[in-house]
Amino acid sequence: MKHIHVKGSTYVIDTGMTLIPIYKINEFDIILIDSGYHGEREGIMKLLESNHYHVKGILCSHAHTDHIGNNHFLKTNYNCVIAMPAYEAIAAESAIHLKANYGSYSLKEIEEHFGHLIGTTDIWIQKDQTEIELEGILFRIIHTPGHSTSHISIITPDHVLFVGDALISYEVMKGAKLPYAFLLTEDLKSKEKLRDIRCDKYIVAHKGIYDTIDQLISDNIQFYQERAEKVLELMTEPMSFEEIMESILKAFSININSQYKFRVIERMIRSYIEYLHDVDRITIIIKDGFLKYQAVDVN
Ligand SMILES: [Zn+2]
Repeated sequence: MKHIHVKGSTYVIDTGMTLIPIYKINEFDIILIDSGYHGEREGIMKLLESNHYHVKGILCSHAHTDHIGNNHFLKTNYNCVIAMPAYEAIAAESAIHLKANYGSYSLKEIEEHFGHLIGTTDIWIQKDQTEIELEGILFRIIHTPGHSTSHISIITPDHVLFVGDALISYEVMKGAKLPYAFLLTEDLKSKEKLRDIRCDKYIVAHKGIYDTIDQLISDNIQFYQERAEKVLELMTEPMSFEEIMESILKAFSININSQYKFRVIERMIRSYIEYLHDVDRITIIIKDGFLKYQAVDVN
């Protein structure tokens, strides 16, 4: 774990997997932007304790396991306030609510994999809210849905923009076979929206600190769209979801070794298929009582 200064009172914890922003209210009181993955809890706690930090608040970008995994642990330890976009907060309230985002999981799977995320969020950030005051500190909110249903990007008083998972770094692009988005159509719009935000520094959760992000936005959009084109190329005839998934696994050499990974990959692939339908590149037909996806002939 590294403790890196970004600008002014804005710092990050580099966990290796993620950058977790810290905003220092004073020498010891801090606001965390996201709380990290529960598997990295020990290292995060060590860093917080060695700096004598007291967590006063957690401002969350979205309710994924690697972003809010330590929320309730930290709340128990520091009695801090947790703020999250309203829909993400509602989802994280119970296993039944989480089912809205993880439709293909059984309730038991949700409890096993996401049980530690379930709890109450103190402050719900509404969908038209553009700023939030937490412990006397004013943060600006940019709504960037798509990666998750109500993902937000956050600007600290130092003009540092944390884009969370709305963008991925070049390093992640290099290793990503099929990058994740819950709703790719919206995710691409949100990436474009970030182009208008002028800040002094930009933090990408996975994982980088940049002075400008214009080129990164263009490269992200191109990367996702190229992947969608590759998916489309595999749809040589009317195919069921399972048939498409099988060809994608082969073509991208994706190895699935757990039911959890299956669920993630399945959701990811659906997102690409839904995007292709949203942009009228495929049609949906019923054949022998089953849904089939068919590429639209553009010639
Ligand atoms: Zn995420």
